[in-house]
Amino acid sequence: MNGRAARHLILVGGGHAHLHTLRRLRELTGAGIAVTLVTPARHHYYSGMGPGMLGGLYTEEQVRIDVQRLAESGGGRCVIGEAAGLDPDCRLLRLTDGRELAYDALSLNAGSIVAGLVPALPGVYPVKPIANLARAVERLREAGCTAPPRLLVVGGGAAGVEIAGNGRRLLGDRGSVTIASAGPLLAPFPPLTRELVRASFDRRGIRMIEDAPVSGWTDGTAILADGRRIPFDVALISTGVKPPLLLESLGLPLAPDGSLSVNRFLQSTGSASVFGGGDCIAFEGAPLARVGVYAVRQGPLLHANLRAYLGGCPLAPFKPQKRFLQILNLGDGTGVLVRGKIVRHGTLPWLLKDLIDRRFVRSFQK
Ligand SMILES: Cc1cc2nc3c(=O)[nH]c(=O)nc-3n(C[C@H](O)[C@H](O)[C@H](O)COP(=O)(O)OP(=O)(O)OC[C@H]3O[C@@H](n4cnc5c(N)ncnc54)[C@H](O)[C@@H]3O)c2cc1C
Repeated sequence: MNGRAARHLILVGGGHAHLHTLRRLRELTGAGIAVTLVTPARHHYYSGMGPGMLGGLYTEEQVRIDVQRLAESGGGRCVIGEAAGLDPDCRLLRLTDGRELAYDALSLNAGSIVAGLVPALPGVYPVKPIANLARAVERLREAGCTAPPRLLVVGGGAAGVEIAGNGRRLLGDRGSVTIASAGPLLAPFPPLTRELVRASFDRRGIRMIEDAPVSGWTDGTAILADGRRIPFDVALISTGVKPPLLLESLGLPLAPDGSLSVNRFLQSTGSASVFGGGDCIAFEGAPLARVGVYAVRQGPLLHANLRAYLGGCPLAPFKPQKRFLQILNLGDGTGVLVRGKIVRHGTLPWLLKDLIDRRFVRSFQK
């Protein structure tokens, strides 16, 4: 496309990787580029504050960003709908409702979905989309009207741990919280992280079942591979993430794990007019860790490269940092900070996370 004036940019998904572009949309629309945001819902929920929302630390309004308003106030158009497929040769995006949108450039920020089985049973929710956590709170409250509510978290990664800790905060002294993990809790983290989390959960009566995958479900009960049965009112499934199925319908090169293969300019290796960022891409053939940190960092570069591409200018490469800061919100007023091999636990890490997250989301809510 470099070399000729382009007219229409489509942003698929209003997630972490597109927020920067949405905030600075005027720079595109002011240059005569029509921009359409395609999003399944007008609000995007910020995942970093999702577990805190479950624990009652934040309201739903505090953790979500009105991406429709961002798009429209920047002079763009917002289409509520879901992308279903692409014809990259004709530059056509197809939506699940049959609508077709023509584009000159398209940027894909479709996020990820929970990997593994999510049975279609009452009270069972995947942790993505994050809005499910608000539905889980409602259901636990309803269950608590008749008996102490029982929360089961399946998956012992960072998200599962945060959800179990905040689930305990929501339930207080009532009810039960169980976290069941196919391997040890927080397997890829430094061992000290695991010890700190186990000590906190022990103190607060959160039952930890490690090295015990869930192998079956009946209504209201999860069955572990060793035969144990865990009854629940709400089960939140947090068993890692994978790229959305949409990617298989793009007609573009994918990495072995099904994510969109992009070059160092965040540009599809199969179509120069398609860009992508966040959890749904494989950067130079290999997926980066699926954390919001990368999606957010890619935001400004995506914005710059979309502008450059549509203006016929050279693209800039994305340079991922090797280490990044993670802070786990344990839901008891403390956090565990992890950066490489450095691990710190206490109130300060939690206050830092709270400050960073609130400031980030507020900057898109003004
Ligand atoms: C509970 C939980 C807590 C987390 N906490 C942290 C944290 O503290 N720090 C951190 O770095 N990472 C965290 N993560 C990981 C983080 O959520 C992801 O890495 C991040 O959301 C990726 O951003 P993204 O922009 O790729 O996708 P998202 O922010 O998920 O955005 C994707 C968007 O695409 C839209 N979409 C999906 N399908 C379609 C379609 N077909 N058509 C149109 N739009 C579509 C979705 O509606 C969504 O708005 C957490 C994850 C979970 C589950």
